[in-house]
Amino acid sequence: MSTKALPFDHAFIEQLAQEYPTPFHLYDEKSIRENARRLNVAFQWSEGFREYFAVKATPNPHILKILKDEGFGADCSSMAELILSEKVGITGEEIMFTSNDTPACEYAKARELRATINLDDISHIDYLDANVGLSELICFRYNPGPLREGNVIIGSPEEAKYGFMREQLFEGYRKCRDKGVSRFGLHTMVASNELNAEFFVETARMLFELAIEIAEKTDIRLEFVNLGGGIGIPYRPEEEPVNLEAVSAGVKAAYDEMIVPAGLDPLRICMENGRMVTGPYGFLVTRAIHSKEIYKSYVGVDSCMANLMRPGMYGAYHHITVLGKEDAPCDTTVDVVGSLCENNDKFAIDRQLPKIETGDFLVIHDAGAHGHSMGFQYNGKLRSAELLLQEDGSVRQIRRAETLDDYFATLDFSTL
Ligand SMILES: *Cc1c(COP(=O)(O)O)cnc(C)c1O
Repeated sequence: MSTKALPFDHAFIEQLAQEYPTPFHLYDEKSIRENARRLNVAFQWSEGFREYFAVKATPNPHILKILKDEGFGADCSSMAELILSEKVGITGEEIMFTSNDTPACEYAKARELRATINLDDISHIDYLDANVGLSELICFRYNPGPLREGNVIIGSPEEAKYGFMREQLFEGYRKCRDKGVSRFGLHTMVASNELNAEFFVETARMLFELAIEIAEKTDIRLEFVNLGGGIGIPYRPEEEPVNLEAVSAGVKAAYDEMIVPAGLDPLRICMENGRMVTGPYGFLVTRAIHSKEIYKSYVGVDSCMANLMRPGMYGAYHHITVLGKEDAPCDTTVDVVGSLCENNDKFAIDRQLPKIETGDFLVIHDAGAHGHSMGFQYNGKLRSAELLLQEDGSVRQIRRAETLDDYFATLDFSTL
């Protein structure tokens, strides 16, 4: 049987569920920190390397605080994400503001926090200038179009709404310089959940080549390149994590071969991963409440796609462990489903699992990024609590579960 390791066991969860009813998301602080350190160590050759955690993956201030501790900045794309970062003391150039279709009020907040503003389109130079003023440091998001292949989550770059086309970059940098901007960066984000280390090395090469061409054509020297996020995680037990040391070594080789001889060293390198930072270290813990035999066999659990949308939205695989039955044979085939009145509310389809009884705890793996955060309230479903398994083994609630009062808070029944 293929397995995935867990930082807790059945007895631990049984005890925990007495205090915090299922479903809940549980994050493993120790592993989050170890992984963050691994990324920083891998890139320590690169002076000023910084990872800006993509806040949308796990927008919880307690998680952001752990990552700030480890030297990460924040990659924000909305007002709420900017405010969350501000509240944990991540400000100034520790924030990368990579938004699109951005309203003026969000640019104003980003300016107030002195965040690095990453423009999604050439028309936003004038928009930013007219509404809040250009900052001293400006970054552009590059969309390589047909020059690169994307993948299913982010789509083909040519079909993606994001970024500047190649020629627009040169025009944009000149325009910003003419308007008094003195510091420049370049960003791209072309894939998500990519497991091939070489892909990120190619992204670095693409940006290094552009940095050289920008210097030649405009005489503008970039301060940094941001390779974007998108480092994948092994959702399936047979998959391997991305070798960060291999990514780093490949990027370094490209840097030494391209940037150094061009006289553009030092050029800071940054990334803005979400998934690989928290994804594998968060678990959705839920309980079987029903089983049903019709044309197929179903196990109904007490959570639904409001708690984890990826399987329903992308058909994404999330591994499931039945606690206490880790060594039992996987000799039944079931769909594991939630209670939403939508037939795609299925955590697993035709999954081989040990025989599940009502009351069993199911752990849905790799829910730490784009899990709780994608939650919604359709069908009156409420978002669950978030719990943190701390380094000393104790558990702290870092977000309470929603209640019906939260759900009804925006309604005024008195005017009925
Ligand atoms: C979502 C997103 C990220 C993070 O993506 P992951 O796949 O979680 O690493 C980074 N940058 C931008 C601009 C994004 O939209």
